[in-house]
Amino acid sequence: MRNYEARKRILVTGGAGFLGSHLCDRLLERGDEVVCADNLFTGSKRNIEHLHGNPRFEFVRHDVTFPLYLEVDEIYNLACPASPVHYQHDPVQTTKTSVHGAINMLGLAKRLRCRIFQASTSEVYGDPSVHPQTEGYWGNVNPIGIRSCYDEGKRCAETLFFDYHRQHGLDIKVARIFNTYGPRMHPNDGRVVSNFIVQALQGNPITIFGEGQQTRSFCYVDDLVEGFLRFMDTDAGFTGPMNLGNPGEFTIRQLAEKVIELTGSKSTLEFKPLPSDDPLQRKPDISLAQAKINWTPEVQLEAGLKKTIAYFDSLLAGQI
Ligand code: NAD
Ligand code: UDP
Repeated sequence: MRNYEARKRILVTGGAGFLGSHLCDRLLERGDEVVCADNLFTGSKRNIEHLHGNPRFEFVRHDVTFPLYLEVDEIYNLACPASPVHYQHDPVQTTKTSVHGAINMLGLAKRLRCRIFQASTSEVYGDPSVHPQTEGYWGNVNPIGIRSCYDEGKRCAETLFFDYHRQHGLDIKVARIFNTYGPRMHPNDGRVVSNFIVQALQGNPITIFGEGQQTRSFCYVDDLVEGFLRFMDTDAGFTGPMNLGNPGEFTIRQLAEKVIELTGSKSTLEFKPLPSDDPLQRKPDISLAQAKINWTPEVQLEAGLKKTIAYFDSLLAGQI
């Protein structure tokens, strides 16, 4: 627990979302002050309700596409809808959030001369032709497709981070996050883990897009947040980009079968058309994170799914 002298005041944009709320929890647990800025587009007050009595926590309802004037020691920039259903709902706003949001938060970091972390994504690799994906791979992204608002927005945000670093000497940390899951995911955000669990718990058909042979690597949220904190504490000379994700690779069909097994559900499998530009394979090469921050995810898929299923079970029963 950090004492008063060591305590930092930390801005978390997107702090009322799935990952952001877990990050706020961890920062408060170690004794820091947290300012959570969120426009509540996909996040929810429920995710941070338990923090409101904490004198070291503040919530600011704010859209990062507008400038923000605050005094903080560090910034984690997570604000951006992350599920395809949500980011495709208003694609222009998604690009604005990534690009204008990055410009505004980088401007804030520049004025404060403070360190800033960017929640980038494995989507910068698009539908990858290199497998597993290393940070040196430049990606295979469609610039005009339905995922482009997110993929290209995040790529442009990375460009801005590195230009602020080169041009203004800003202290940046760019993490490329691979599919992460856990409690507080939005039940209707359409992401595969939340979709399958909710469908299984409700006894509805499990919707597999395509034949379910596409792969993803799923990281449990606690492992990921540990990676954020370790990365943020590295020397200023280390900027990333750095992959953070669990290298365990599963087909979507395997995930569906695992969720049915763990929930004991009678749900059947229902096959639907594969959305366009849906990447066929995804798996992080995490050698850089292992070498630089001594980080390897510890939570195996089955253990993480059990915790996530317990969360959605309580949520659907109206207990959360
Ligand atoms: P999420 O949708 O739960 O959280 C995003 C948060 O940002 C929400 O609270 C939302 O209300 C807020 N937000 C959106 N637009 C905003 C705006 N204009 N101004 C202020 N707040 C805004 O998603 P998440 O899974 O927690 O993702 C958090 C970050 O991590 C995102 O930047 C996402 O791109 C990145 N990421 C997540 C994953 C993953 O698997 N979860 C993978 C790769 C990257
Ligand atoms: N997917 C699926 N059924 C669903 C939701 C998603 O088969 O109900 C598939 C989707 O087509 C993709 C994978 O699961 O191949 C992961 O989708 P998600 O939206 O979670 O993340 P992303 O595609 O951004 O990795």
